[in-house]
Amino acid sequence: MTRTPVIGFEVHAQLATRSKIFCACANGVGGEPNSRVCPVCLGLPGALPVLNERVVELGIVAALAVDATVAGRSSFARKSYFYPDLPKGYQITQDTRPLATGGGLAVETGGRTFRVGFRQLHIEEDAGKTAHRPGRPSLVDMNRCGVPLLEIVTQPDLTSVDDAVAFAEEIRRVLVYCGVTSGRMHEGSLRFDTNVSLAGEDRAPGTPCEIKNLNSFRSIRRALEREVERQNSVLDGGGRVTHQTLLWDERAGVASPMRSKEEASDYRYFREPDLPDVIIPAEKVEELRANVPELPGAARARLRDRYGLSEDISSVIADERYEVEYFGEMVRAIGSFDLGDAEAAGPACAKWFVGPLRGLAHERGLSMDDLLGSRLPAARLAELVALRASGGLTETAAKTLLGHAIDSDEPLADLVRRLDLAQLSDEAELATIVASVLEANPGELARLRRGERKLVRFLVGQVMAETGGRADPRIVGELIEAAAKREDS
Ligand SMILES: [Zn+2]
Repeated sequence: MTRTPVIGFEVHAQLATRSKIFCACANGVGGEPNSRVCPVCLGLPGALPVLNERVVELGIVAALAVDATVAGRSSFARKSYFYPDLPKGYQITQDTRPLATGGGLAVETGGRTFRVGFRQLHIEEDAGKTAHRPGRPSLVDMNRCGVPLLEIVTQPDLTSVDDAVAFAEEIRRVLVYCGVTSGRMHEGSLRFDTNVSLAGEDRAPGTPCEIKNLNSFRSIRRALEREVERQNSVLDGGGRVTHQTLLWDERAGVASPMRSKEEASDYRYFREPDLPDVIIPAEKVEELRANVPELPGAARARLRDRYGLSEDISSVIADERYEVEYFGEMVRAIGSFDLGDAEAAGPACAKWFVGPLRGLAHERGLSMDDLLGSRLPAARLAELVALRASGGLTETAAKTLLGHAIDSDEPLADLVRRLDLAQLSDEAELATIVASVLEANPGELARLRRGERKLVRFLVGQVMAETGGRADPRIVGELIEAAAKREDS
């Protein structure tokens, strides 16, 4: 029997503010444990929280980016539970009156688009971190206590594991584009909880199970695949899926049930008495709308429609907003290098951006962020692409030049001269080299004359090697063909 997965998410994004949500402690990652704490975020008796306005602003920007409706009035509640990394014994969150409701996200994948609806977006504080050490006492670090979080609760609209992963990737992109979170999942800045059930042919969803603590796209995929498989085998065996909450172990790659005490969801929500309601005037919302940038879906469409890039290449570039911006700068800059109009320059820029540049970053162990941010201004790469496109450099020479261009500020024209990279297109000079290569390869020349066409490529390759990759391959090909025919007649 075929059953369809029914999947939803709770997305937790740490907001990129300077200070924590209810105190002046720095909002950061790493550092000495328990060094960014104060009486408020440690929950000492008598300490009073004060809401960081920037948290609300970033929450509104995110809400607007996903077309959610921002509430004119929202409020905080206490969610009580016990855990060593929650010193107050409750988490301040939003319950029945969240920051925003509704909205959703269109996700493009494999040539189709689907939409995931949202229930609500709310703001809350993060808890501390407990490090469990086998056989030794556990350690608690409170630096994360009070770090602001945006939680997005989706509808269970996803019907496959692939779509679920595509959604998770796209919501990350949207939030990072908006600058509301760093989105660095390995640092825990973006974390996913998921709920999954299987619907039979009657389409009625079964009992959902929750999996918490998914901190990478790979974990989301693995956890969902295993859970779908587990529920299928329970149902195939005539059993019933019972509700449970599983905790994903990133390192071991397995989900295990939380202890029932941890799972008990009697959170005794009640209004937070120490914080007033959050009142958001409509004008404030409109003012913040200007902070919503072009989103990834629109960026992909623009790269496709305006610059004629393929769907795949548009997706690669649109993965990060800074890459879209860099690409835009490159295309603008290339206008001044006499390569015709910007539209025609798009594919040439994209080819270098997605191919050799990424290859070089990989080779040098650099992130694209490093490479683009400081080592290679967009105008410099544009100049290189223009040099290549105008015939001043061969492909090989252009790649060599790229390697040197990221290591210095020396003008490209000087580098080309100093490294002797300019393309050889002087026919007389090339004819001499071609003649000597043909003389050195008489067997191959004879086979070419007998009609083995692939030997043109071989012989061109020999000339390229002879010239350190600088010969114009088109002219060399013509010279070889002409030589082959000449001896024929
Ligand atoms: Zn604090």
